[in-house]
Amino acid sequence: GTVHKRLPSWLKTKVPLGSNFTKIKNDLRGLNLHTVCEEAKCPNIGECWGGKDKSQATATIMLMGDTCTRGCRFCSVKTSRRPPPLDPNEPEKTADAINRWNLGYVVLTSVDRDDLADLGANHIAKTIDSIKQKAPHILVEALTPDFSGRLDLVDVVAKSGLDVFAHNVETVEDLTRYVRDRRATYRQSLSVLEQAKKSVPHLITKTSVMLGLGETDEEVLRTLKDLRTHGVDVVTFGQYMRPTKRHLKVQEYVHPKKFEYWQEVAEKLGFLYVASGPLVRSSYKAGEFFIKNLIE
Ligand code: SF4
Ligand code: SF4
Repeated sequence: GTVHKRLPSWLKTKVPLGSNFTKIKNDLRGLNLHTVCEEAKCPNIGECWGGKDKSQATATIMLMGDTCTRGCRFCSVKTSRRPPPLDPNEPEKTADAINRWNLGYVVLTSVDRDDLADLGANHIAKTIDSIKQKAPHILVEALTPDFSGRLDLVDVVAKSGLDVFAHNVETVEDLTRYVRDRRATYRQSLSVLEQAKKSVPHLITKTSVMLGLGETDEEVLRTLKDLRTHGVDVVTFGQYMRPTKRHLKVQEYVHPKKFEYWQEVAEKLGFLYVASGPLVRSSYKAGEFFIKNLIE
């Protein structure tokens, strides 16, 4: 539509869809599993699922249903105070599916389930454990909720056998209250990331920041420094894209040169890995990088 026409050229992509793509798509239908790749209409889907090198193919599975108890203002996931109950077979089903898909790397994300006594921590941990039993060659990243700052629940996931613990701060401190659900705070998210590292020191910790929400350079720099102080190893930057008119407006389409600038700044600050670009999403090329460089 009209919005698409006004997008700067660097945000338009052509998506090549290969056979692995079709296989994953058909399998998902049958199993009632959800991927962020599809739900968020991620522009990198052809590249991630197909991948030139199958051993590095990546997909992002969404656990615990398609309905979230929170309502962040940038996110298009459905919200309800009482989502349907968890599917107790989901951990095993997910592991079986992933095992069939020719993936090298999987990202497990989830909606927030503030309605559950353990906020879903044990369900996530069970899924990771099940994948590691059935397909130990696949690297697992979990992109977790903030567990309302409950560090005992962070430990449950951190100790489940995963390779990368990710939790997104999403934006700079001062914009957090406008961008994320009221129950999420910047400091709470930093403490979650710090706890994961304390709990299992060899875990890689990772976070993502969206640009284009009105943040200043000074605020972005402060965020990077805060992340380093809390032991975060990996950071990604991508352009915020408004999912519908009911969501936050894009304040700025940040120029690719600016993304390069943040890439350099972050590398100088000592992050192990930085991905920064308009189309970069939290899980973009994660497989490619982690398989090659970090976990041998
Ligand atoms: Fe899926 Fe992430 Fe790749 Fe997008 S970048 S297709 S959400 S794995
Ligand atoms: Fe979306 Fe996550 Fe916020 Fe839920 S907690 S509304 S899934 S960003």
